[in-house]
Amino acid sequence: MMNNPNHKVILPPKTVGILGGGQLGRMMAIAAKEMGYRTAVMEPAEDSPCAQVSDEEVVAGYADRDGAARLANVSDVLTFEFENIDGDTAEHLASSMYLPQGSSLLQITQDRKKEKEAIEAEGVPVAPWASIDSKAELDAAITRIGLPAVIKTTRGGYDGKGQAVLRETADAASAWRDLEGKGPFVLEAFIPFVTEISVIVSRGTNGDMTTFPVAENIHVNNILHQSIVPARVPQDVQAKAEDLARTLAESLGMIGTLAVEMFVTAEGGLYVNELAPRPHNSGHYTINACNVSQFAQHIRAICGLPLIEPELLKPVVMVNLLGEHMDGALAQMPIRARAHWHLYGKHEARPGRKMGHVNILTDHIPDTLEDLKSWGIWSHT
Ligand code: AMP
Repeated sequence: MMNNPNHKVILPPKTVGILGGGQLGRMMAIAAKEMGYRTAVMEPAEDSPCAQVSDEEVVAGYADRDGAARLANVSDVLTFEFENIDGDTAEHLASSMYLPQGSSLLQITQDRKKEKEAIEAEGVPVAPWASIDSKAELDAAITRIGLPAVIKTTRGGYDGKGQAVLRETADAASAWRDLEGKGPFVLEAFIPFVTEISVIVSRGTNGDMTTFPVAENIHVNNILHQSIVPARVPQDVQAKAEDLARTLAESLGMIGTLAVEMFVTAEGGLYVNELAPRPHNSGHYTINACNVSQFAQHIRAICGLPLIEPELLKPVVMVNLLGEHMDGALAQMPIRARAHWHLYGKHEARPGRKMGHVNILTDHIPDTLEDLKSWGIWSHT
């Protein structure tokens, strides 16, 4: 089936151009290079994680059309590693250059309100929510939705930034003081989840679609800390999660990669929390534990190659390395024979900044989780 009028087969040594130079771009570029493609990157700062492994580097801001034109000039296909490219620039790129992913999904996932509407339109559950533009609307929404609830900015929030949990009525006033002017917002019911999971769907320009095994995700301070695969969630719930993710990918006309984050309740109910139209931190385990990585699959999808049906070759724990973990990680590197280290080449190890991750393949997840506590890297593990 060919569902994309732009379907083209791009073969090596053609050039894959990547908008955004962070770790996701770096891992896309590495996957592309393994297959024999050339790579180019556009990023405002020089020597970015992606530029370090790319053939061509365009130093320009994400909204710089001249920069994008320079990237397009040296590229045969464009992709993005970063969803906050402004809407006009994305539309311009999609209409004037070969960006098989298009720009509409990017624009939906940049806005929590549009994202929830798109998810609900497919009959996929999200937490009960309301759109908020004023303190009066916040108060009315609290009455309707109840507490606890979470207020989030509709745009620009990530890793828990731009949001606040409201536990009692009095929290509304202080949250509003902190957030006023950063709106619009949504208010969501707080879902008493037992587990957070994610599904990564890949979909090619030729209509091929695959999902990677469900990851169980543990967040610390709202930042992903660990992914555990297989997820410790019943099989039927995992199958339902994969189905929901495929439904969303197909209905949104997604090309490339979509990460679908979900909450699982004690009764096995699923609520979609967030979509990301790109490879995702919770899919980093695939690099070592699957027969194809999320990055290689993404390159295949946008280059019009058939997708590989993903298989988990071995259970795995992925743990993130933030700035504050780097000294510990470097101390462990010489002595941990089973650890697959992935460092992103960032020069400054600021606290909370994603610097790398480590994948540990294992026959026994509980032992591995216990063993990680003795590595002395993560104080909260
Ligand atoms: P987000 O930025 O929307 O991905 O939220 C960051 C984290 O906050 C999530 O991974 C959850 O751990 C928590 N969280 C966000 N929204 C909710 C909610 N409606 N109910 C429960 N926990 C939430």
